[in-house]
Order: sequence, then structure tokens, then C-alpha cells
Amino acid sequence: MEHDDERWMREALRVATARGSDPAVTPIGAVIVHDGRIVAEARNECDTLHDATAHAEMVAFRRAGPRVADADNPGGELRGATLYSTLQPCGMCTMASIWAKVGRVVYGAGREDVHRMYFEARHTDTIAFIKDAYRDDVSIAGGVLREECVALYYGPDDPVSTDDQGNL
Ligand SMILES: [Zn+2]
Repeated sequence: MEHDDERWMREALRVATARGSDPAVTPIGAVIVHDGRIVAEARNECDTLHDATAHAEMVAFRRAGPRVADADNPGGELRGATLYSTLQPCGMCTMASIWAKVGRVVYGAGREDVHRMYFEARHTDTIAFIKDAYRDDVSIAGGVLREECVALYYGPDDPVSTDDQGNL
């Protein structure tokens, strides 16, 4: 853990809970930190944007790109940046992290802490994507402010109706 991780995770928690902290409102938050400042923040926007891919991390990447882009970086790559997410990123967001070129991915609640509805694959842990990447300059770390993050989500054994399980 790096010394500012808890500070930035608190910002991700603030973003996550902007519309409440009940698991039913999907309080997932992400912030992207570059050169010691937040260049983008977002919560899950699937319902408001009517976009099933509008996970907090995806929305944050789309906001961050234009803020870091210049003539040498027209693609808005986020080299040297850290993504903070209150929940371990799903497969899509982990892959997006690799393509966005972030240097670190840091999360609060982990896969084993929450209901399986938050992940798409039965056995593939998204950490495996990072370990298998061609890039060797990206790392992932979890458990920052774990208790506070875990409290926002359905637990592994919580009864969640099939209709409410977004991965089915
Ligand atoms: Zn995701």
C-alpha cells in the first residue's frame, strides 16, 4: 500500500455514495489519480446513461482521457496514473485498465468479500488478467479501506433476487 491510498479511496467512497449507500443503488465509485491529483471521478452510471457498460471505472476512463491528452498522447493514455475503485474491477474494467495504460489498480472490497453478482466469470479472478498482461508495468492491490467498502455491497450469502443479479 502506498501512503496516499487511503486518502484517494476515501474520495472513491465519497463518489460511490453520492446517491446513497444502499446496495440497491449500486454505490460503486472510482477515481483516477495522476501526478497527485484527481483527473476523473465517476460512480456507476448504467441506469442514468442507459449504458450497460457505464461502470464507474469505464466512465472515469472516458472522463480522464481528454484531461490528460495532448499532441504526444492523443489517445488519452493514463500512464503513471492510479485507478481507485471501491470494488474490485470486473473483467471489462480490468481489461480497460490495461488498455488505458494505468500503472496501478487499487480497490477496496474484493471478489471474495461480496456477492457473485458483481462478477461475470465463475472462476477467473480479474487479478489474473493483470498478471497475464503483455505489459509488465501494471500492478493491482486490494483491501484498502476494505471494511468501509464491503459495507456498501451485497454479501456473499445475502439473498438477492435473480432479477436483481446483474450478471445473469
Ligand atoms: Zn466493471
